[in-house]
Amino acid sequence: MVTLITTTAELKQRRSSESSTVGFVPTMGNLHQGHISLLKEALKNDDVVYLSIFVNPKQFGPNEDFNRYPRTLENDINLITEAALDFPNSQVFVYAPKDAQEVFPAGMDQTISVQGLDNILEGKIRPGHFDGVATVVWRLFDLVKPQRAYFGLKDFQQYHVIKQMVKDLALPIKIQGMPIIREKTGLALSSRNQYLTAEQKEASLILYRTLSTIKELIISGKNPQDYMRDALKDPNWNYLVLRDTETFSEDITNSKNISILAVYQMGNTRLLDNMQVEVL
Ligand code: AMP
Repeated sequence: MVTLITTTAELKQRRSSESSTVGFVPTMGNLHQGHISLLKEALKNDDVVYLSIFVNPKQFGPNEDFNRYPRTLENDINLITEAALDFPNSQVFVYAPKDAQEVFPAGMDQTISVQGLDNILEGKIRPGHFDGVATVVWRLFDLVKPQRAYFGLKDFQQYHVIKQMVKDLALPIKIQGMPIIREKTGLALSSRNQYLTAEQKEASLILYRTLSTIKELIISGKNPQDYMRDALKDPNWNYLVLRDTETFSEDITNSKNISILAVYQMGNTRLLDNMQVEVL
């Protein structure tokens, strides 16, 4: 059963009368199979699942796409309902606040900052972005009070920010990272892919191909640095870097698992992707 909740009062009332294990999937809506994979994992593990749909103004910079970000609630509910059919005893609550004041009422002006991760890579290019993310997730965690929350590894740095926040604030929530869902071509699903023209979509496959090549080089014991330096001659890379998967450290000398993190700029759209490589 899928139930829509549009006010925080209703959400609080429902949560105060519930004792089941609660799983939580925070999203900004315009759902695709990437989001649905998180929902399905939650439905497998938890008695009751909350999925939030909230385009969080705090995580968008002044010149970013907050106003044109796709809002498709009706279609989102259809996708959720379809996914829930496979779990006949499940209960899904979709928290889609009717406006931003439901989440951040007047007078609530706390900001959560995760130091260290907030000013590198995505954080450096999008100042304030991870403060906005951490703040909304902290607020949603406080409202939903889940035992488990599901995040896509597509937003790899975001996943680390949330894990660090949960650790720093000693929140009793298990954070589960979920694999990236891709199109057949390799392009990672994203709500922003619909900004791409057919030609841009085709051209954007360079992102998946480059990550795959670096992964293969690492697997075969070769140093990928020359290849990466060459690739970076293309000015459309916002970044293309290697990091330790566990610690997010730049020092990968003794890493057991390496993450290749990249953003490729396709016109006005930034395509974010990553791959993990186990080092044998
Ligand atoms: P968003 O609506 O973009 O804020 O994403 C909500 C959640 O879905 C985040 O945890 C994302 O990492 C996750 N997500 C987005 N795209 C994908 C994807 N292609 N595969 C897996 N998870 C994803």
